[in-house]
Amino acid sequence: MSDLLNVDNLTVRFEVKRGGSWGRKSYLYAVDDISFAVKKGETLAIVGESGSGKTTAALAVARLVKAHSGSVHLGDEDILQTQDEDLRAFRQKVQFIFQDPYSSLNPRQRAEAIVREPLDSLSNKSLAEKTQIVEGLFEAVGLRPEQQRLFPHQFSGGQRQRIGIARALATQPELIICDEPVSALDVAVQAQILNLLRKLQKDFGLTYLFISHDLGVVQHMSDSIAVMYMGRIVEHADRMSLFTAPRHPYTQALLSAVPTVDRVKRASQKRILIPGDPPDPVNLPKGCRFANRCPMAQELCHQQEPELRSDDNGHRTACHLLS
Ligand code: SF4
Repeated sequence: MSDLLNVDNLTVRFEVKRGGSWGRKSYLYAVDDISFAVKKGETLAIVGESGSGKTTAALAVARLVKAHSGSVHLGDEDILQTQDEDLRAFRQKVQFIFQDPYSSLNPRQRAEAIVREPLDSLSNKSLAEKTQIVEGLFEAVGLRPEQQRLFPHQFSGGQRQRIGIARALATQPELIICDEPVSALDVAVQAQILNLLRKLQKDFGLTYLFISHDLGVVQHMSDSIAVMYMGRIVEHADRMSLFTAPRHPYTQALLSAVPTVDRVKRASQKRILIPGDPPDPVNLPKGCRFANRCPMAQELCHQQEPELRSDDNGHRTACHLLS
């Protein structure tokens, strides 16, 4: 399968002022020189704690925040250079499912109008065509036709996320960015929404970039997983490799918190706690960004930042212990 999305050396930085209005300018590198690809019809999950840069990276891919440098190709098109009409066409090809179904839907619009909105703003279709598409989408996401007339407050949390998913599908996008799509939902409803996303992927050949803080959520959802820490990718591998043989100490700690249904594994599973706090993002240490919290840190780790290196199978890790 060929790559649909190629992200190369993407960097997003924000200006911060220190020391009042006369203070010198500093930059917070929310996303710092990351590269990855997503194959057509597959799911890449980007996982990390709050502040890791995962959501900013997704927003930059969707052109919802400005990238400082790097390139993002959707097929052959460099989307960071896209302008005007091409940008409108791009907006049809890349859609977002937001984290919070409570706040991402306009409370004054009926469900039918919410789902139709991307078609109104991005397509030239007639009202009859749009009505037909919206009817099909309600069915595809498991909502009844008569629910089109209801307002968001008349739906449960899971149903609201189904409306958000239908809206994201309206323009038949090539790439859907799912930003923590189940983190605001109950566990039972989470499973229903994840199953729905998987079914829609199979039915429509969708490609997902799936953002989550929880490796447990992405374990049945992803073909490959990139783990981010302080703006960098620290490990990236196919799902099987990452879950059975995680290499980076940070990934190992995140995985130790994921409950397993396997009784034998559960008996031997030990939670690895990550002590301390991440470093100041505006004043990063010169060595490994994880060094002040890493149980395996050595002298070199505090002096030199490890490079993200790939083995022969494409499993990439940034850690001096593996160099
Ligand atoms: Fe830990 Fe050193 Fe590896 Fe960083 S480079 S993750 S500090 S062992």
